[in-house]
Amino acid sequence: MKNLAPETVAAQAAGAIDEATGAVVPPVHVATTFLRDPDNQYRKGFAYGRPDNATVRQVETVLTQLEGGAASLVLASGMTAATATFLVLPRPAHVVASKVMYWGLRKWLLEDAPGYQIETTFVDTSDPAAIREGMRPGATRMVWIETPANPLWTITDIAEAARIAHAAGAQLAIDSTVQTPVLSQPIALGADIVMHSATKYLNGHSDVIAGALVFARKDASFEAVVRLRSMLGGILGPFEAALLLRGLRTLHVRVRHQCRSTLAIARHFARHPGVEAVLYPGLDSHPGHAIAVRQMPGGFGGMLSVRVQGGETAAIAAAAKVRIWKRATSLGGVESLIEHRASVEGPGSPCPPDLLRLSVGLESTDDLIGDLEQAIATARA
Ligand code: PLP
Repeated sequence: MKNLAPETVAAQAAGAIDEATGAVVPPVHVATTFLRDPDNQYRKGFAYGRPDNATVRQVETVLTQLEGGAASLVLASGMTAATATFLVLPRPAHVVASKVMYWGLRKWLLEDAPGYQIETTFVDTSDPAAIREGMRPGATRMVWIETPANPLWTITDIAEAARIAHAAGAQLAIDSTVQTPVLSQPIALGADIVMHSATKYLNGHSDVIAGALVFARKDASFEAVVRLRSMLGGILGPFEAALLLRGLRTLHVRVRHQCRSTLAIARHFARHPGVEAVLYPGLDSHPGHAIAVRQMPGGFGGMLSVRVQGGETAAIAAAAKVRIWKRATSLGGVESLIEHRASVEGPGSPCPPDLLRLSVGLESTDDLIGDLEQAIATARA
């Protein structure tokens, strides 16, 4: 069926049922190998489990529809997915990337990518002029953005970044983990590749590590990642894929609730005496608010950061005093998480030392506000 609403596609996992039994939940396809036809062909489309798997394919079908892409590939982690997009570039490759981004990928670009002849210029991608300045026409193969970007929730104008990349003959790839397809569809705005750490909102229950790439076209980049995934064995396992497919069924209700709750928490702490600043693209005070309104029609997301008065010591002390928020890394699950982010990111990070990163889950908004209130108050006492 065509033109179904995205929540219908997600809830029914793009029509996945088991034809053989009529089960409304498809089986987990665990087979690693498949029978040949009498004439030596593999007409059912599967030969071996490293290049392809039917449970993984169903997740890909859902994601392609939700993102409005041409094809998707699901991989073993968000980092596998992100690094694959760089590793398939013709080399030597120059790329332009956000200064503010997931620290693990920044570390890989700084310390590992040069060994693969991939050179990165880091710029403030929230400023289109800075992206333009970073471009080397003829040499820049890709612009990599993350929006909203960890941990300041910096907003980059996706359509403008796509125009700049394309004018220089480069691709635009975006880490859309925090947006999810519920809030924004970057391919419609001009992105060529959309990447997700499916570990986060897509799965949503903090029990699967997974990554995804959605391609605007079935082009050479897509074919190259198909090959890389097969050669390196980077496909997601079938049990993880089945959990991810189950998580995707509730994506829209989870993310919409998280957006509402996060906006309420952001507004509450923006006026709090123990708080220096709240960073959330849904607040008028956020420098990226106007662009976020335009390019995130589904909401502003479930991530915010709070800069605690009293600096690093006060921030770490407040994180130690929470009772409902879980003091842990990661994001996008049903349980709310709090983290002193500078402790994770290490030297060279743009993260201020007084910043607590919050991932809002599905608990009562009032409980979350009350718990953070008492944590900040106890830390200050
Ligand atoms: N991108 C973002 C925004 C992330 O938060 C993370 C993980 O924390 C990643 C990418 C990497 O994903 P994974 O941990 O699934 O490899």
